[in-house]
Amino acid sequence: VLAFGGLAACGSDSDGGSSDGGSSSGGDAKGKVGVILPDSKSSVRWETQDRPNLEAAFKAAGLESIIQNAEGSPDTFGQLCDQMITEGVNVLIETDLDPDSGKACIDKAKNAGIAVIDYDRLTLGGGADYYVSFDNVKVGELQGQGLIDGLQGMGVKSGNIAFINGAATDNNATLFKQGYEQVIKDDGSYKVVADQTGDWDPDTAGKVFDQFYAAHPDLVGLITANDGMAGGVIAREKAAGVEGKIPVTGQDATPEGLANVLQGYQFGTVFKDTSLEAKAASDLAIAIINGDDPSTIATGTVNDSELGVDVPSVLATPVWITADNVQDVVDAGQASAADICKGI
Ligand code: BGC
Repeated sequence: VLAFGGLAACGSDSDGGSSDGGSSSGGDAKGKVGVILPDSKSSVRWETQDRPNLEAAFKAAGLESIIQNAEGSPDTFGQLCDQMITEGVNVLIETDLDPDSGKACIDKAKNAGIAVIDYDRLTLGGGADYYVSFDNVKVGELQGQGLIDGLQGMGVKSGNIAFINGAATDNNATLFKQGYEQVIKDDGSYKVVADQTGDWDPDTAGKVFDQFYAAHPDLVGLITANDGMAGGVIAREKAAGVEGKIPVTGQDATPEGLANVLQGYQFGTVFKDTSLEAKAASDLAIAIINGDDPSTIATGTVNDSELGVDVPSVLATPVWITADNVQDVVDAGQASAADICKGI
């Protein structure tokens, strides 16, 4: 196993980088897919990982694509949905902002005879035809175990910890929490003394940390559900002079998150290889367009508890990354050494 080379590796350049752009058109495309991404603020993943990966997957499959970002606005989400239906997409792929606007778009698309794939987030009660994501309870378990292992590694065998969760409107946030609660509740030595949402927002998460820290100056560690919120908390920890003393967790293996891991402010991050998600979405879209049976691509089902329906799904496996295996993320092409080093 190649180590990243720690902080010493920073200074040398490497591969990677990102691309963007609105739409691609192929002269003899096999069909057209539309994608609505949720925002660019809750995580850099949507624009720097998902967009280029989806573009590459559709291009390789010979599909024309329109990829748009709702930038956090349910109204924009609805407008993009209408536009894509008018433009005649064969398959609509969405990552919802909330169940209501997510379902409204699914309903409109289905009424127009367009198949819908929920991308990364299951729209609860939405009725999408397919779902592509990761094992999201497992993501939370990795975070919980990562926090416990990290604390043990520091010789901190007990103490007060706190949770800063993702947005309540995101079904994934519920699943992540289920995962880390399972692990942390099993361990009698650590006590969860505070638990709040950070709304997938770095600044909000930072403010929540300030409150938690004022009430519990003896905190030994924190679950922060993604790298963006981890960054918001670490900024406040730096202001209080406790960065690295109350380490956090993360998710998305962003360059910022990986830099915080290397510096010891964050115990680890969950690496979700988003090229696997993009490939699954593109494989499903091709099968739908060709009239093949897409359910053969699904590797299982996920239950939509609101509808009581099992949605055919493809779920990829998440990986926990600590300072020891940051190189794996670089090797997989999801973050470049140069970008990671910018955060140090
Ligand atoms: C995704 C995470 C992301 C978060 C905020 C979740 O639904 O699974 O990867 O960090 O949303 O955008």
